[in-house]
Amino acid sequence: MSASNSETHPTHTRLLIIGSGPAGYTAAVYASRAMLEPVLIQGMQPGGQLTITTDVENWPGLTEVQGPDLMVNMEAHARAMGATIVTDTVTRLDLSVRPFVAELDSGARMTADAVVLATGAQARWLGLPTEEKFKGFGVSACATCDGFFYRGKRVAVIGGGNTAVEEALYLTNFADKVTLIHRRDSLRAEKILQARLLRHPKIEVIWDHDLQEVQGSDKPLSVERLVLRHVKTGAIRELDVAGVFVAIGHAPANELVKDQLELHNGGYVKVEPGTTRTSIPGVFAAGDLTDHVYRQAVTSAGMGCMAALDAERWLAEHSDAGLPDPAAAMEPAETV
Ligand code: NAP
Repeated sequence: MSASNSETHPTHTRLLIIGSGPAGYTAAVYASRAMLEPVLIQGMQPGGQLTITTDVENWPGLTEVQGPDLMVNMEAHARAMGATIVTDTVTRLDLSVRPFVAELDSGARMTADAVVLATGAQARWLGLPTEEKFKGFGVSACATCDGFFYRGKRVAVIGGGNTAVEEALYLTNFADKVTLIHRRDSLRAEKILQARLLRHPKIEVIWDHDLQEVQGSDKPLSVERLVLRHVKTGAIRELDVAGVFVAIGHAPANELVKDQLELHNGGYVKVEPGTTRTSIPGVFAAGDLTDHVYRQAVTSAGMGCMAALDAERWLAEHSDAGLPDPAAAMEPAETV
C-alpha cells in the first residue's frame, strides 16, 4: 500500500507520468524542461527495481553506484527540474475519456491530457503450490531484502540470468553456501558476472535441473529442502537449504492498462516501432513495461526521454484540437 501524500498537487496536468524507475524520472526531467509541468505518481515501490539491487556497474559515467542511491539522485533531479512527485499509487486509469482519468490509492482523482506509462516490471514466480506456501517464510524473490536472514545458512537461487547471478553473489555476504540451480547447462547472464559466479568459493551450480517442490516445517513455517529434477533424465534429488530465491525474470506491470491498450509478447505494451506511442493517441509507454528485449536501466531512461519528447510533440499538435485549457484546470488540490 502506498502512503498518501501530504503535499498538494494539481487535479489536472498536461502530462501524467506513472512510475518512478529510470523511465519515469527521465520522462519527468525532460517534460519539466519542456515546461509541461508534469506530475509523476511514484507507485508502490518508489524508485522501482533498482532500489532492491546493490552495485550497478553499467550506468554510464559511474563505474559503480548503489541502485538505491542512483534512484534517490534521479528523483532529486526530476524535482529540481520542476516536476511534481507524488507518493501515491494509481489504482485505476481510464483511457477511454479525455482528459484521461487516474484514481489514486489516497482517494485523490487526477485528469491528464497525456500520459506516460512507466510502471516497469515485477518479479516472476514459478507457480508451484509449495513456492506459494513458503513465500515470506524461506521463499523470496529479493536477496537484498531478505538475504540478511540467512547468515551462516545454506541457500539456493533459481535462474540463469543477470538477476539470478547477482542474487547468488550478493547472498555470499551472508550465507555459508549458495547453490545456483539452472534449467540448462549454460547461463544467460553477462560474461563478467558468470566469471565472478563460477570462481566464487561459496557458490556451486547445479546445471540442468528444475525445482519441483519446496519442503519444510509447518510449525514454524520454514524451508528445509528442495526437490530437484534433472530435466533430461528425470532423476530426482534433494538439496538441504534454509531458503530459496526465485530469480527467473520479470513480467511487465500492465494491470492498469491490460484491457485498454494493445499488448504483445506476453503482456508488454505495444508501441509503434521507433517511438513510445501506444495504441491510444496521447498515451506513451517507456521502460520495462514495453521493452521485452533490452530491459536495462539505461535503455529505460532512454525510452523515458523519448516518451517525454513524443508527448511534448503530441500535446503541441493537439493543443488546438479540443484538449482542455490546462491553465484553467491547474487549481492545486489537497489530497486526502
Ligand atoms: P532473464 O534474463 O529473462 O533470465 C531469466 C532466467 O530465468 C533465465 O536463465 C531463464 O532460463 C530462467 N527461467 C525462466 N523461467 C524459468 C522457469 N520457469 N524455471 C526455471 N528457470 C526459468 O531475467 P533477469 O535475470 O531477471 O534479467 C531481466 C533483464 O534485466 C535482462 O535483460 C537483464 O540483462 C537485466 N538485468 C541487468 C542487470 C545488470 O545489467 N547488472 C541486472 C539484473 C537484470 P533460460 O536461460 O533457460 O531461459
